[in-house]
Amino acid sequence: MKHIFEKSVPGRTGVDAGPVKQGTEEKLHSRLRRKTESLLPEVSELDVVRHYVRLSQLNFSVDTHFYPLGSCTMKYNPKVNETVAALPGFAGLHPLMAYLDDSAVQGALDVIYELSSLLAEITGMKGVTTQPYAGAHGELTGILLMAAYHRNRGKSKKYVIVPDEAHGTNPASAAMAGYSVISIPVNRDGSIDRTLLKEKMNDEVAGIMLTLPNTLGIFSREIREIAEMAREHDALLYNDGANLNAILGKTRPGDIGFDIVHMNLHKTFSTPHGSGGPGGGVVAVSERLTGFLPTPVVGRSAEGRYYLDFNVKNSIGSVASFFGNFAILLRALVYITMLGREGLIDVSEKAVLNANYIRVKLKEYYDLPYDRTCMHECVFSAKRQVQKGGIHAIDIAKALIERGFHPPTIYFPLVVSEALMIEPTETESKETIDEFIQAMIEIARLAETDPERIRSAPGNTPVSRPDEAKAGRELKLTCNL
Ligand SMILES: *Cc1c(COP(=O)(O)O)cnc(C)c1O
Repeated sequence: MKHIFEKSVPGRTGVDAGPVKQGTEEKLHSRLRRKTESLLPEVSELDVVRHYVRLSQLNFSVDTHFYPLGSCTMKYNPKVNETVAALPGFAGLHPLMAYLDDSAVQGALDVIYELSSLLAEITGMKGVTTQPYAGAHGELTGILLMAAYHRNRGKSKKYVIVPDEAHGTNPASAAMAGYSVISIPVNRDGSIDRTLLKEKMNDEVAGIMLTLPNTLGIFSREIREIAEMAREHDALLYNDGANLNAILGKTRPGDIGFDIVHMNLHKTFSTPHGSGGPGGGVVAVSERLTGFLPTPVVGRSAEGRYYLDFNVKNSIGSVASFFGNFAILLRALVYITMLGREGLIDVSEKAVLNANYIRVKLKEYYDLPYDRTCMHECVFSAKRQVQKGGIHAIDIAKALIERGFHPPTIYFPLVVSEALMIEPTETESKETIDEFIQAMIEIARLAETDPERIRSAPGNTPVSRPDEAKAGRELKLTCNL
């Protein structure tokens, strides 16, 4: 397949921009004038169209393939979200307008206010900031809020406790905020080891970060006991709510006893994401932390007028420019209001049902280290395939690509060796999920009978098995001209 530079023919153009107007060149400062050719490919419009359409087709995406990437919630993003986000009245706004003349942006402020209220309701919390750009950014914001709370009470705290199944961003966020991390392993049943937790708890612990349901897809039944332990030592309970998809409308972090929760709008509330962005890591907090939220927050006067409220007494300051990724907030609001209460309950029920369907259908073929009812995802291990035919999780992932499926998350969570973490989401049909199950069964069979077939997959993609370490070390993004 030729790339666009190889198709270049001197003098060929797509659009004739006409001659340069007399005097234009002189108006440009000599420093800005090009002294050499631009080296852009010289191609026709059709060449350009084919180039970009082909590039788009080389991708795996939610719009083209089943994408059961565990922990990432790659659900379908309704196109109506995009339509609303592209409305000129929203898309054309400059965020500075809110500072210069808030009467001109009442609609946009309404979006932020409404979304914040809905998310406070959904999580059972009292205050919300929409500023953070992603989950990890929300975590850092949450831990900074935690630190501000303890500082304000004159307490010096040193540690944050994180179970070892957690997403790597959890310990990283706690460390960035200046805490030392105490890692606690999970039990045989997949929940945090409470005996060890009890041992490690002391008055210097600032907080416990828990993912609920955790990255093994398991809802820890002992959460109340842990909340009690935290209270005894004046530690705050932090909920990594990236997995909120599983509990929407069923339970609320605020009711459980959490003080802080970050949500991933780009996962649970359905906005396109992947490869680093864009995202929304909204943070919601309990009553005792509302006085520390980042500013500005959007306030509403008694007459219903929206304004920027900088009057948060102990605010940690801004954690992002303006209000975060506004267009993502807008999409999330559309999604939530479109589904409504019943729709959101339906989301969590189907997400959990689909994951358990896969768990039960595949457990005969793949090792299931934590064999209990899961929530929105199930975690298998390729251990059996390693023992029988030397087939690893990476080989299974490649064989799935050959069969037209995006692989699940592999080698995470770290507590499961050869992990295959499958999250089907609620948006997939039974037919699609059945096809995936069939592919997984076929791969399990071939792993025993013809492992070489699996080891050499994929055979039908433009690139088969790149040397990923080499691609990283000798990154080459331009072609030789
Ligand atoms: C995705 C995820 C994160 C991080 O979110 P980003 O938006 O990628 O920064 C944190 N924790 C869990 C459990 C996640 O699934």
